[in-house]
Parts: sequence; structure tokens; C-alpha cells
Amino acid sequence: MSANLQFKPLSSGIKYDDQKPLIIAGPCSAESEEQLLNTARALKNLNVDVLRAGIWKPRTRPNSFEGHGIKALPWIQTVKKEVGLPFAVEIATPQHIEEALKHGVDILWIGARSTVNPFNVQEIADALRGVKVPVLIKNPINPELALWIGAIERIYNAGVEHIGAIHRGFSSFQKGKYRNEPLWQIPIELKTLFPDLPLICDPSHIAGKRSFIYDLSQKAMDLNYDGLMIESHLDPDNAWSDAAQQVTPVRLAEILSELKIRQATS
Ligand code: PEP
Ligand code: MN
Repeated sequence: MSANLQFKPLSSGIKYDDQKPLIIAGPCSAESEEQLLNTARALKNLNVDVLRAGIWKPRTRPNSFEGHGIKALPWIQTVKKEVGLPFAVEIATPQHIEEALKHGVDILWIGARSTVNPFNVQEIADALRGVKVPVLIKNPINPELALWIGAIERIYNAGVEHIGAIHRGFSSFQKGKYRNEPLWQIPIELKTLFPDLPLICDPSHIAGKRSFIYDLSQKAMDLNYDGLMIESHLDPDNAWSDAAQQVTPVRLAEILSELKIRQATS
């Protein structure tokens, strides 16, 4: 498998202190402007580097909340103006990319259900030509390293300069401890092939349950991941999506302060 792609550190695409892991946090879904603002104000105090929220939600079954879509983009602009942190959203189509960039979204991510489909990824890649913002690529839902690499290559070949990978676990028919199997060996292999590729762990979608978030985050830190994406909601039990896995900002503060982070050498 070819491994001659040259990646830049995400710190050159997003301004943050790269001596510590990049922390991306926010609710699974943007539910209202007030929710986004109040969450962002709480997270701003925790040394969170980037806010996140889904506005186009790929739900497994129909008749679930599928996100507010473009209606939520002005909310994001308001939040950015007030708290001054960069904002990341999931995009899945060229239209999403156009709308998100028009409204000042700083970081785009490709979700696990898009990475799984090369036609979809290529369409996204074509729409990303010339785009300057960082693009994070979640692993495909199924445990196939080549598909993840293929998605990274498509986005890289489109000329996107700041690319990162997000490990969010892999679905399995067999019910295990976690909602998605971490299969740590797959991201380890990815990092071995592409040592410079920034790798972020999403313990929320691996866990499916908030009590596992700390241990999974610590494991990612022990493996020298470059960052974490953690879902945080002011009232997790009443979240409109992924209720069981979200943590309050108060709990997130505890998790972040208790994590043992390897100090960079050299
Ligand atoms: C999300 O981040 O809320 C999401 C839908 O993630 P994934 O693509 O990992 O399922
Ligand atoms: Mn989610």
C-alpha cells in the first residue's frame, strides 16, 4: 500500500497549542441557537480548542431527528462571534460543503457513513478542490482499513492541505461492550503507514455509553493520538441524538483534567 503522502500538522490549519492534544467538543446535534450558545460558553472555559455539532445528521433509521440543516448555520456564526472558537460540522454532499463554507464553518468532517462509499467520497473530494479549511475523515463504519485509506487519498488528491483522521470505532453484528468495536489495531496500522497523519479519537461513538468515555480517551492518549472529539451536551439524557454517550461540560472538565497525557519529547 503506498504511503508517500505528506501531511501537515493540524496546528498549522487550526490555531491551537500543539503541545497538548487537540480537543474538539460539542453536542451530537445542534438543537437550537440557545443550546449551542450555552454549550459553547461552558466549553470555552475548559480549554476546548474546537466546537462541534451536527446539523445534517445521518440517522440509521428514518423518522429520527435528521438535523436542522442550513437553518442552524447562522446559529454557528453567532456562536463563533460570541465565543471566538473554531467550529466543525459534518458534511456529506457538495451542497453541504458550499453552505458550510459560505457561513464560515472552520473545519469539515466526513462521517463514517460517507467514508464507506467511494462514490460519495469522490463527490465530496471534487467539491473540496481549492478549499483551505481542514478536513477530518472518520473511519468507515465497517472495519476495512483500505476504505479509510482510499477516502484519505481521494481528499488528499483533491489538494486539501490539512487532513486528519478520526477513529470512531467499527460496527459489528455481535453486540459487545461498546456501541462500536474500537479495533485499535486498524488506526495503529493507519498511523504506521502515515506517521504524519494527525489522528483523533472519538470515544463517544466508540463507547455509546458515557461511563466509558474516560477510559477510551486515556487509551487514545496512551497510544499517542493527536486529539479527541468528545460529544458534550448540557442535558445529555434529553439530547435529540446519541443521548447515552454524551457528557455534561462539568463531566468533560473532569475527564480532561484527569487524563494523563504523554509529554512530547524532543
Ligand atoms: C457524529 O459525529 O455525531 C456522527 C454521526 O458520527 P459518525 O459518523 O462517527 O457516526
Ligand atoms: Mn453523535
